[in-house]
Amino acid sequence: METFSISGGHNPDGKVGCGTVNKKLDMYESTEDRYITNKVIEYLKKDNRKAYNCTVNNGTSQGDVLDKLADKHNDIGADWDISIHFNDVNHKDYVGDGATIGTEVWYYSGSKHAAEIKEKGNLICSNISKIGFRNRGVKAHSGLRFLKETHGKSMIIEVCFCCDKDDVTLYKANRDNIAKAIADALQGKVYNPKKEVKDVDKIVLYHGDADVFAAIVVAQKHKCPMMKESDFKISGLKAKEVVQIGGKSEDANRFQTFKNAAKLL
Ligand SMILES: [Zn+2]
Repeated sequence: METFSISGGHNPDGKVGCGTVNKKLDMYESTEDRYITNKVIEYLKKDNRKAYNCTVNNGTSQGDVLDKLADKHNDIGADWDISIHFNDVNHKDYVGDGATIGTEVWYYSGSKHAAEIKEKGNLICSNISKIGFRNRGVKAHSGLRFLKETHGKSMIIEVCFCCDKDDVTLYKANRDNIAKAIADALQGKVYNPKKEVKDVDKIVLYHGDADVFAAIVVAQKHKCPMMKESDFKISGLKAKEVVQIGGKSEDANRFQTFKNAAKLL
């Protein structure tokens, strides 16, 4: 059975050599990479896999963090060496344009295991994309130290972008699902989002703002939460049953929508 060493990239938040900080979107790479690392290891252990946490919390500089990471990973000598990161770009979307920038995986272009790493990396990207992130694919790099200096089959997972509101919103609603998607991929399994726990049993969704009053009455009757349809789509929330108010073909106008909603009472 293959073994896995996993680490969060960088030093902890607030220390020298920490990861990306995006205060506007309340997104702290080093905090989140540790969350995902812990969860992936938890899921792997549930499946009776050997998984080790090699995160470094006491680096004295960015270079020292990288030295210590390579040492920790190589001391364990697992089959796979994986580092969890979050991306950042100059194009910043703090408003949300409805599209994520997405997820990507990096490997060392000179690795003798390139084909095998690419295969697993592709599965990681496609598993995470099932949650709604754009699949940016697997990319080769010739210079990243973590990839060059760890002796296992090595990859960096850039989960999503800290500087894009769509990425951050979807990420925050799906932390555990993302960790499960990664843990499944590491074991060669296709992630099935339908099997995951639903956040609510039932929810009322309203289409336009004019439909909100009808939605309130229906949600009260059904004793369940309600939300705007467009917000629900990007929230990452999952519901067993959705009651839709407005936006259907029979809802010709707001008055007809109200009449149709009354039938649900
Ligand atoms: Zn990073």
